[in-house]
Amino acid sequence: MFESITKNLNEAFSAFRIGGKLTEKNIRDGLQQVRQALLEADVSYDVTKEFIDKVAEEAVGDKVLKSLDPTEQVVGIVYQELVNLMGPVDHSLAIKRNDVSVIMMVGLQGSGKTTTCGKLARLLKEQGHRPLLVAADLQRPAAIEQLRVIGEQIGVPVYSEDPKTSSPLKVCQNGVKQAKKTGDADIVILDTAGRLHVDDELMAELEAIDRKVRPDQALLVCDAMTGQDAVNSAKTFNEALEIDGVILSKMDGDTRGGAALSVKQVTGVPIKFIGVGEQLDRLEEFHPDRMASRIMGGGDLQTLMEKAQREFDADDMERQQQKMREGKFSLEDFRNQMRKVRSMGPMKEIMKMIPGMGGMLDAADNVDADKEMSRIEAIIGSMTMDERENPQKIDRNRRNRIAIGSGCDPTDVSQLLKQYDSIAGMMKGMAGGGMKDQWKAMRQ
Ligand code: GDP
Repeated sequence: MFESITKNLNEAFSAFRIGGKLTEKNIRDGLQQVRQALLEADVSYDVTKEFIDKVAEEAVGDKVLKSLDPTEQVVGIVYQELVNLMGPVDHSLAIKRNDVSVIMMVGLQGSGKTTTCGKLARLLKEQGHRPLLVAADLQRPAAIEQLRVIGEQIGVPVYSEDPKTSSPLKVCQNGVKQAKKTGDADIVILDTAGRLHVDDELMAELEAIDRKVRPDQALLVCDAMTGQDAVNSAKTFNEALEIDGVILSKMDGDTRGGAALSVKQVTGVPIKFIGVGEQLDRLEEFHPDRMASRIMGGGDLQTLMEKAQREFDADDMERQQQKMREGKFSLEDFRNQMRKVRSMGPMKEIMKMIPGMGGMLDAADNVDADKEMSRIEAIIGSMTMDERENPQKIDRNRRNRIAIGSGCDPTDVSQLLKQYDSIAGMMKGMAGGGMKDQWKAMRQ
């Protein structure tokens, strides 16, 4: 995401440095390029203008020019204004302590609303809540079934009624009633109907639910890939419903960044979460400071650390380390660890979160880490458990069988075994101790 705005902004920042000394002219030229970068990222003209005016007001003047490092000061001002543009954000969802809370999810058809209902339910369940999903999208054929399947995947109950005899309002009211009566759920998530475009009928339906069910939160799901259209629909939805937050979906796609940068400024409503993949665990809290850093090519180590902490727990790390020390770290362990890294997201996205790696990745565009990992997984997958634990048993015959099983060349199998040998050796050396403590220190 954001490849081109990051590249354009960095070019603009180099304009500040032309001639080795920052002058008012350099600042104005650089800001002109920042302006262009924002417009190309599909940020609206008005938002861009206001942004540049603010930066210019702070950047032009003696205070900056006479500072120790004027260029860094200007870059810092751009960063801070990007943070201000997207924030502040309150991530709370107005969840009540002793009563059932209701979250109403709205959005256009195809925005990712139903999927996001599942993602949010999964997240809340992980936090110890007992969510109930309510299938009130009677507009889109198969939406009820889709929600049911999602509910099954994440182990969350789904309330639905026969669409021929019910209405969206009735489903919502009855869903909430059921949660209150049985006490089985503490949060009800309403998956309301979308339309292809905002229209009066949709708004009337949603307003009726809003008025009669009185949700504690109304969240709008917008597709980040639709840029300014997403921003405009957010404005319309907010005028009718007073939404509390936006969830920007498909941020993993080819989005230029315009929606993420403009929603707050145009609607006054913050982005609370972002969807970063189709899978149900791909929902992240939106942090303006981290996003600004990512957009400027500075990475986002904090999100990366949080992802890693979710996947690897300290005791498991200690167990693996013990195995390494004893030289017992098998190919099976290797595969399990690799799977955990992969479950954090596409390699390219993970690497971009490391400061400075974004630019390097562009240079190494032909390296497809995900493909390489899939190949390794396939090879290990074709080994018996005994072979994974004792790779030294893999002779020529076994090697050929594994190659056929995984659709690779026997030399690929040999290469993996060689790599494993050197990695295992290296790990034994590294596992001298202290890793668990380091890990614990990072978690604090
Ligand atoms: P709805 O009509 O708004 O309920 O949309 P759906 O939930 O059915 O989603 C439409 C499509 O977008 C589906 O193919 C989803 O898998 C996909 N989708 C939803 N959220 C994301 C996301 O964050 N990233 C990506 N890449 N795809 C998503």
